[in-house]
Amino acid sequence: MSDTIERIKCLIIGSGPAGYTAAIYAARADLKPIMYTGMEPGGQLTTTTEVDNFPGYPEGIDGPTMMVQLQQQAERFGTEVRIGMVTAVDFSKEVGGIHKVTVDNATQIEAETVIISTGATAKYLGLPSEQKLRGGGVSACAVCDGFFYKGQDVAIVGAGDTAAEEATYLANICTNVTMLVRKDHMRASKAMQHRVNNTSNIKVMYNTEVDEVLGDQVVEGLRMVNNQTGNKEEIEITGLFIAIGHKPNTDIFKGQLDMDDTGYLITEGKSTKTNIPGVFASGDVQDKEYRQAVTAAGTGCMAALDAERYLATVETSDEVSA
Ligand SMILES: Cc1cc2nc3c(=O)[nH]c(=O)nc-3n(C[C@H](O)[C@H](O)[C@H](O)COP(=O)(O)OP(=O)(O)OC[C@H]3O[C@@H](n4cnc5c(N)ncnc54)[C@H](O)[C@@H]3O)c2cc1C
Repeated sequence: MSDTIERIKCLIIGSGPAGYTAAIYAARADLKPIMYTGMEPGGQLTTTTEVDNFPGYPEGIDGPTMMVQLQQQAERFGTEVRIGMVTAVDFSKEVGGIHKVTVDNATQIEAETVIISTGATAKYLGLPSEQKLRGGGVSACAVCDGFFYKGQDVAIVGAGDTAAEEATYLANICTNVTMLVRKDHMRASKAMQHRVNNTSNIKVMYNTEVDEVLGDQVVEGLRMVNNQTGNKEEIEITGLFIAIGHKPNTDIFKGQLDMDDTGYLITEGKSTKTNIPGVFASGDVQDKEYRQAVTAAGTGCMAALDAERYLATVETSDEVSA
């Protein structure tokens, strides 16, 4: 542990669209933000080649380039971006309290406000062929990437509400959608199952898992296996969507911040306030509903504005009590 403890106004944890947008706003408000990037500088978008739906890029942009541009914009106003992983936090419950954060099990920071933008990690099946073709037709986001497979045949893996919703979303764009469900039934709500079953171009395959994703550079097909009979079947597809859930990156906040039963941070009403005054949450870490770059950026902006207003209130009450 280092002996010197740095005291700052605003700490941003995470360097995805939420973190960088919070940084732009916080820096312009003179909060002199310091950001720690975590293990994935730039966040989830660095794993995708084409972002077509972020406003302001008429020709689309590749994810890594977009994130470098966001970093440059945040740095232009004075954000200090540091490589490092927050490994522990100690959040004071008092208004105006100082929040203690440890980086890489070594550096201690004391921050008047903390903006958490640690995102969520999409779960994958873990097959080598799936990993090889990520970005080459394997995606964990139908809303983001479905459009690229317009008029083509695709498959989706999953059985919950998100999988069912994404299957019907894809069915509107693609010619045929094969849905692989590991059990003999779906977990999705009855209403969502009804929608899937009443969509003529979705074929649900129960007791079915991915045996291998076929293709060298891009997805060309799928070998499926029936987990009851062991029978294997190949189909031709160009896109495979994995919809088996996300894990919010909130382990270090357990026991300190309110979370729902799946680990997403809970924020107050329409704000980004957590249950601890001075600690705010933005982006996918507090949003299991939309999970888009633009919504993450929107809540990043809100978090910086909430942090600025919080500091103004604390400073005013300090002046009154002085
Ligand atoms: C393959 C794929 C394609 C996508 N395509 C699109 C698209 O085309 N359009 C779109 O709008 N959305 C797309 N999305 C969704 C989009 O990427 C996310 O909604 C968005 O990135 C969420 O932003 P975020 O800032 O909340 O978090 P993330 O982007 O998840 O970033 C989280 C950040 O937190 C950091 N972090 C985590 N833990 C710690 C820690 N302990 N200490 C420090 N830092 C930490 C990580 O290193 C990372 O920098 C896609 C997602 C995927 C997976």
